[in-house]
Amino acid sequence: MDNWLVIVGVGFLVLIAVFPFLRIGTRPRCRECGSRKIGVQKTATGMRTSDFHGGGEGGGYSAVQTHYEIKYRCNDCQAQWTITATKTR
Ligand SMILES: [Zn+2]
Repeated sequence: MDNWLVIVGVGFLVLIAVFPFLRIGTRPRCRECGSRKIGVQKTATGMRTSDFHGGGEGGGYSAVQTHYEIKYRCNDCQAQWTITATKTR
């Protein structure tokens, strides 16, 4: 019974450790030809400090938001497109 718990616990930790890599590894498909051979170029376009007010006593905290411009280029058909993203930390 105890062994079973250890296996589940270790499996859970491995899942948490691997999950960020799975997300990073998720690459988009080309909009034109559906290829997965996509080149990604990430450029930080700016930073901004935002104040979040969570309510409650002493609530609220500051976070730095980084704005990214992510350029994708298909290696098969040379299609290009750009998206913008915001990362809060
Ligand atoms: Zn393509």
